[in-house]
Amino acid sequence: MTVFNHPEFAQHERIVFHEDPASGLKAIIAIHNRNLGPAIGGCRMLPYAGDEAALTDVLRLSRGMTYKNAMAGIPYGGGKSVIIGDPSSEKTTALLHAMGDLVETLGGDYITSFDSGTTLDNIRTIGERTRHVGGIVKGAGNASASTAYGVLVAIKAALRHRRGTDQLEGVKIMIQGLGNVGLRLAQLLKDSGAEIFATDTNSVLLANTVEEQGVTPLAPGEIFEIPVDVFSPNALGAVINEETINQLKFGIIAGGANNQLANPEMGELLRKKDILYAPDYVANGGGITELHYQFSGGSEEALKTHLDSIGETLAVIFETADFQGRPTSEVADQLAEERIRVRNSTR
Ligand code: NAD
Repeated sequence: MTVFNHPEFAQHERIVFHEDPASGLKAIIAIHNRNLGPAIGGCRMLPYAGDEAALTDVLRLSRGMTYKNAMAGIPYGGGKSVIIGDPSSEKTTALLHAMGDLVETLGGDYITSFDSGTTLDNIRTIGERTRHVGGIVKGAGNASASTAYGVLVAIKAALRHRRGTDQLEGVKIMIQGLGNVGLRLAQLLKDSGAEIFATDTNSVLLANTVEEQGVTPLAPGEIFEIPVDVFSPNALGAVINEETINQLKFGIIAGGANNQLANPEMGELLRKKDILYAPDYVANGGGITELHYQFSGGSEEALKTHLDSIGETLAVIFETADFQGRPTSEVADQLAEERIRVRNSTR
């Protein structure tokens, strides 16, 4: 396994590999960059095929957090952690406590929260051993609700850019994935007059949403067959790839899923097809922004104003991309890199 020459290494500041035989914990914490503040990013637990797969995932995700936090305008750098193991059978209190001990050794340089395979309760258990956890403040909102609201703001910003109005009445929107984010997005869109199409591999969830939200259900394989105005990916990454790029029948992509483009070249292909792409880490920055407000004790009102600013950030990205004839994904990366270069004087 290579580390410094790893294709995803991207000048990470620190990578910690840790094994605790007593609890069975095998974990990697990656801190990509702390120029804007302590690294924050969730803890993922998955039965990775091997150490290499776990390392690739944590490096890619922690770098993504640096960009996401920079564009969200919050004082945090990027980091992420992975626990190698099956969350359904190997997640014990002892293992989560060992993870908390590991996070504590970093003295606040890395702050963790929940991600795939971990829950709010798990983070509370980790938090019994370290103060450096986010998202568990009693009475605080659910970060996924803020993510969904941010995606709604992103959809409206894209519509404004394309049509001069963000009216949702009659706009056809396809939601892929009805989990924490997608379901809340469907709820937010429900009363707006938008026509919602939705899919989920979980047929029970899909059927319930059809009943509760009045959405038109589609099989997962059918989503690229229906022409819609907006596609909102809220399930997996790499949904825009070499196979799907020629099947797309919509003018806007704005969703909460991480890493929607299979590779950077997809950004230029979308531009050439005249599809307006709201860069994923800008559109889905609402959840991490809410964590910042939990830490700093900011008001609900201030949080909402901050989430609404996702629309202003996207407007700058869209206009710059049009003006320079460049993909929105590339423009967003450049803006994030400019922000990251400005080292926080308080660090
Ligand atoms: P989730 O696991 O709650 O929901 C994902 C849903 O997608 C599930 O219902 C699943 O059945 C469905 N799904 C999986 N594969 C599918 C497919 N091929 N077609 C259709 N549906 C499929 O996850 P979530 O918390 O809602 O997050 C969704 C995405 O947004 C993820 O990529 C996540 O990393 C990203 N994200 C989430 C947040 C947040 O606050 N939850 C924040 C930032 C980014």
